[in-house]
Amino acid sequence: RFLQGSLAIAVVGFDRGRESWASGPGSANVVAIPQLDGQLLMNPAVLAAAADDYGHIVHRTPLAVLVPGSMKDIVKLVTFARLHGIQVAAARGVGESHSTAGQAQVAAGVVIDMSALATIHEINGNDALVDAGVRWIDLLEATLPRGKSPPTLTDYIELSVGGTLSVGGVGGQAFRHGLQVDNILELQVVTGSGALVTCSPWQNPLLWNAVRAGLGQFGIIVRARVRLVPVKPRVRVYSATYTDLAALTADQELLIEDGRFDYVEGSASADGSGGWIYALEAASYFNPGSPPNNTAKLAGLRFDPGTSATVDQSYFDFANRLAPTIAFLEQIGVWQLPHPWLNLFLPGPEAPAFMQAVLDATTLDDTGQGPIVFYPFKRALLGAPFARVPDTPHVFIFSLLRTAIPATPEHVTDLIAQNRQIYEEARAIGGKRYPIDSVPMSPADWEAQIHPLFPQFSLAKLLFDPLHVLTPGQKIFT
Ligand code: FAD
Repeated sequence: RFLQGSLAIAVVGFDRGRESWASGPGSANVVAIPQLDGQLLMNPAVLAAAADDYGHIVHRTPLAVLVPGSMKDIVKLVTFARLHGIQVAAARGVGESHSTAGQAQVAAGVVIDMSALATIHEINGNDALVDAGVRWIDLLEATLPRGKSPPTLTDYIELSVGGTLSVGGVGGQAFRHGLQVDNILELQVVTGSGALVTCSPWQNPLLWNAVRAGLGQFGIIVRARVRLVPVKPRVRVYSATYTDLAALTADQELLIEDGRFDYVEGSASADGSGGWIYALEAASYFNPGSPPNNTAKLAGLRFDPGTSATVDQSYFDFANRLAPTIAFLEQIGVWQLPHPWLNLFLPGPEAPAFMQAVLDATTLDDTGQGPIVFYPFKRALLGAPFARVPDTPHVFIFSLLRTAIPATPEHVTDLIAQNRQIYEEARAIGGKRYPIDSVPMSPADWEAQIHPLFPQFSLAKLLFDPLHVLTPGQKIFT
């Protein structure tokens, strides 16, 4: 049962019956661990799963996985970990983290399987109180019968509330509502000091400001009060093709200013002759019997004539629109391949030329036919200090959602090197990373990423996780 010897204490095993960590050969020094409502799992299959994520590139094996039976278990684990020099990271589920570079992994530490705490406690008029392990799809299924939805939804809604609130949560409604972290009213957090703290703009505002998009550095989010807005039950999705990327981005910026749609995104795909063709995707919510006026919706847009189309669907099917594609990708094995993603936030004025230059140098082999997505949102609606984006009124998210085909280590290494190169070019024009992706970062890179708030970020670490117990996978602090 030898597990790992690289900790401050050499942990060699956990005896569930005796509820102790045995440190050192022969269990000479036995450290009692607290009684848990849940379980600590240590079997190799579970540990191997916890050493994987959607990226399938980085693998760090933990000593144990905590399946918490209560919030108190997380308090007890963090307190224990802090005392014994063990590190801890929360993950959406064992092997179900949607990070692409080990952000939810912890070598020789403990991964907390947040999916074990996934209760929707209350749904009120304008908000819902949920455990952090709740997936957005579950919340939506519970709120839609009341005509309500979280304001901003990610494109894929099987992500966890705690996971996206720790990184930001961007979607095609962000131009109207901000990120998911901007639509939270209150959080319950277990800090790196092992304290269970409620925070909001009025209560513990330092922690509130730190933990939203705080990359798991300051606390484990255990519960969130999520804002809800009324939504109409039907959605008309508009698509239109552009040969000219700059025409599309100009239209996207027009649309987020005039607000004629409820959702605005865009993408690039292969044009069949070695280049790229671009598509607007926009949506309007409507009540049955009162569909939007297509002529008004498309007026003045500069898409290629004759390429516009509409599809009507339910709000839920629209929100869950990736599900059929993902089921297919799982079936053909592509979902399980390495995903060295690149996700950037670009300053509005520079974004079109930058994206064009990147795409001109990108081939289908470089993306493995993974989606390329880009759309703008408004900087002014963002309120979480550590959600780092360029300081321009419009910010574009630009995502090269690569699949490594072939899945050889050499190809993956090459794609990560491309990510690094593009990231450096983006940084030179004031761009930032969306740190869910695969870009190797040094501590100096992190300082640049969080600039000019790195002193505040470091201070928050000192205040809320002084012993660096939490979320080492981002490699911000060494
Ligand atoms: P994890 O990957 O498990 O965790 C993310 C990070 O947060 C880790 O560092 C982890 O340790 C930490 N963490 C997790 N839970 C907690 C918690 N409760 N408290 C503190 N820290 C925690 N993102 C978007 O913004 N918009 C999109 O449209 C979008 N689409 C996606 C589509 C796909 C197919 C995939 C794979 C990802 C997508 N993402 C998108 C990225 C996604 O937001 C991130 O992967 C995010 O990390 C959430 O994933 P998760 O719930 O699996 O969390």
